[in-house]
Amino acid sequence: MDLKDLYRDVILDHNRKPRNFGALTDADAQADGHNPLCGDRLTVWVRLDGQRIADIRFEGKGCAISTASASLMTEAVKGKDKAAIKALYEQVHTLLTHQEASADASLGKLAALAGVSEFPARVKCATLCWHTLNAALDRSADAVTTE
Ligand code: ZN
Repeated sequence: MDLKDLYRDVILDHNRKPRNFGALTDADAQADGHNPLCGDRLTVWVRLDGQRIADIRFEGKGCAISTASASLMTEAVKGKDKAAIKALYEQVHTLLTHQEASADASLGKLAALAGVSEFPARVKCATLCWHTLNAALDRSADAVTTE
């Protein structure tokens, strides 16, 4: 099995059986995302422990790439703090937008998204969940600014 087949299998698996799928009832923040180019829609819920994501779930309807990307993202960011998530997103974005970029081992299963760089029109499908997560985190930051 070459790397491309492995990547494709990860995408198909996460599309068929998305992880952390369904509303998070005790969320601190949520945000909705929409990618009009493809029609992908999703909602991301986060529960925070200080700067760290204690729990994250998502729900939505979209293409295989948007669903698989969101599923992989929830697995990757759970337990991480906001700074680590921002750094991770920058790595993912580079992977998605540069065909010559090779996946760093620290990306783990997110490396499966590398093939998206061959299809520039689908990059927004893969980044939708990250933009939605950022919107939720921004909102939660507002919520705790009480002074
Ligand atoms: Zn899509």
